[in-house]
Amino acid sequence: MSKKVIVIGSGPGGYPAALRLKELGAEVAVVEAWDFGGTCLNRGCIPSKAFLDTGHRVHAFEGLRKLLKDGSGVNFSAAMLDWDKVKARRAEVVSKLRTSLERLFQAKKIEVIRGKAVFSGSNEVTITGPQGEIKRQFDTAILAAGTRPIFPPPFRDYQEQLTDSDRIFDLPRLPKSLLIVGGGVIGLEFACFFNAIGVEVSVLELLPDILAGEDPQVSRAVRSSFEKRGIKFHFGKKAAGVVFSGGLKTVELEDGTRLAAEEIMVGAGRAADLTGMGLETLGLPWDRRGVKVNDRLLTSAPNIYAVGDVNGISLLAHSAGRQGEIAAENIMGASRAFDADIVPKCVYAWPEVGTVGLNKAQAEARGLTVKTSRAFYLGIGKAVATDETEGFVQLVFDAADETVLGAQIVGGPATELIHVLALAVKLKLKRRDLREIIYAHPTMAEAIHEALAK
Ligand SMILES: Cc1cc2nc3c(=O)[nH]c(=O)nc-3n(C[C@H](O)[C@H](O)[C@H](O)COP(=O)(O)OP(=O)(O)OC[C@H]3O[C@@H](n4cnc5c(N)ncnc54)[C@H](O)[C@@H]3O)c2cc1C
Repeated sequence: MSKKVIVIGSGPGGYPAALRLKELGAEVAVVEAWDFGGTCLNRGCIPSKAFLDTGHRVHAFEGLRKLLKDGSGVNFSAAMLDWDKVKARRAEVVSKLRTSLERLFQAKKIEVIRGKAVFSGSNEVTITGPQGEIKRQFDTAILAAGTRPIFPPPFRDYQEQLTDSDRIFDLPRLPKSLLIVGGGVIGLEFACFFNAIGVEVSVLELLPDILAGEDPQVSRAVRSSFEKRGIKFHFGKKAAGVVFSGGLKTVELEDGTRLAAEEIMVGAGRAADLTGMGLETLGLPWDRRGVKVNDRLLTSAPNIYAVGDVNGISLLAHSAGRQGEIAAENIMGASRAFDADIVPKCVYAWPEVGTVGLNKAQAEARGLTVKTSRAFYLGIGKAVATDETEGFVQLVFDAADETVLGAQIVGGPATELIHVLALAVKLKLKRRDLREIIYAHPTMAEAIHEALAK
C-alpha cells in the first residue's frame, strides 16, 4: 500500500515536496488555505520582481538620457507612470505562473484541497474550506505553512493604517513619499523600485546598517549606491509612535526625530503564526521562528516534517524548495540532510547582491583562519563598456589549503554569477580549481577570475 502524505501549504516548500512525493509513488494531497503557489508566487519573489522590472526599465531609460542631445527626449517623473498598468502587469505575471502551476498539478493528478488544515490527531487533519469540513488521514505530514509579515511595536497598533509587503502590491495610488521600516532584503527591494519610479523613499532601520548578517563591505556598497540615488537612511533609531495628520503618516522616534511620508511600509521581518493549527494535539512546540526540525527536516513528532519558512532555517524560496524535495525523499526512505551553507542569498535591487557560503566573520566565528580576495568591477572591460562599474567580487578561502568557503558579489548579474561559486562551495573546490576555468571575454564573470588572481 502506498504511503499517504498530506502537505500543508502550496508555496515553494510545499509544492516541490508534493511533486517529488508523487514521483516516488506516494499518495499525496496538498492543502492550501489561500492562493496556490504561496507567498513567493503571489505576494513575494515573483510580484516584487515584476515591480523591480518596471523600475529597471526607468533606470535604464535614465541611463539612455545621458546620450541624448541636450533638450531632446523626456524627463521621466512618477506622474508619467500609470500605476494601475504597473499593478496590472504584476497581476498578469502572477496569474500566468499560478495557472501553469495549477495545470501541472492537474496533469500530475495531485489532489489539491482548498481550505485551512488543522491537526485533529497524530494521523489526521481537519480541513475547513469551500467544501465544508472534511477529515483526512495520513501516515506522514509535511508542514509548509510559511510565515507572515510582522508589525513590531509601536507599528502593531496601526496595522490597518499602514501597509506591509502583502498589501503594498495593491496600493490604490502611488504615494509621493514612502517610509520603509526595515533595511533587510524585502525593504531594500521595495526601496529600490519606488525610488526608481520617482517616489521619495527613506528607510528606518533599528540596526547600525542594512542587510544584517551580510559582510559589512556588501552592506556599505549597497547603501552608498542607494544614497547616491537619493534614498535616505535612518539607522540605530527606535520608533516610539505613529501619528496621522494632513495626509501624512509620521513616525516619532525615541530621540524626538519625526519622519513623515504619505505611506509607511512595515517590512521588519516575518514570523510563523501557527495559532489554531492544532500543533498542541501533536505535542509540537512552536514560536515566532516556527517549528524546530533536525537536519533531516523532521520535527519532534515522528511523522511530521516541516519545510520552508516555517522551520526558520532560511526564509528563502529556493531553500524551501530544496527542503521540500529532501523531506519528500526522506519520507520515502532516504536519509538526506539539508545544508544551509550552500543556499545562495540574493538581493534583486541594483546593484544586485549574491552571496553564498561563509563570509569572513562567519568563517572566523567557526574557528577558521581565512584569507579574502576582492576584484572591483571598475577594472573589468564589460563592466566599463556597459556602465555597470559599481561593485565587486569577494572570495573567502580557508587559509590552510585555499578551499573556497564563500563568496560575496555586489553588482553585475550577481544573482546569476553566484551559482558558479555556489558550486565551488558545495564541491569544496580550491582556488586552483576555479582558476582552471576559462572565463569568456568580455563578461562580468571575469571579475571572479580577477579575484582569483589576487
Ligand atoms: C516581498 C517578498 C519578496 C520575496 N522575494 C524573494 C526572492 O526574491 N527570493 C526568495 O528566495 N525568496 C523571496 N521571498 C521569500 C519567499 O517568498 C519565502 O521564503 C517562500 O515563499 C517560503 O515558502 P514556503 O513554502 O515556506 O511558504 P509560503 O510561500 O508562505 O507558503 C505557505 C502556504 O501555506 C498556506 N497555509 C498556511 N497555513 C495553512 C493551513 N493551516 N492550511 C492550509 N494552508 C495553509 C499559506 O496560505 C501559504 O500559501 C520574498 C518574500 C516577500 C514577502
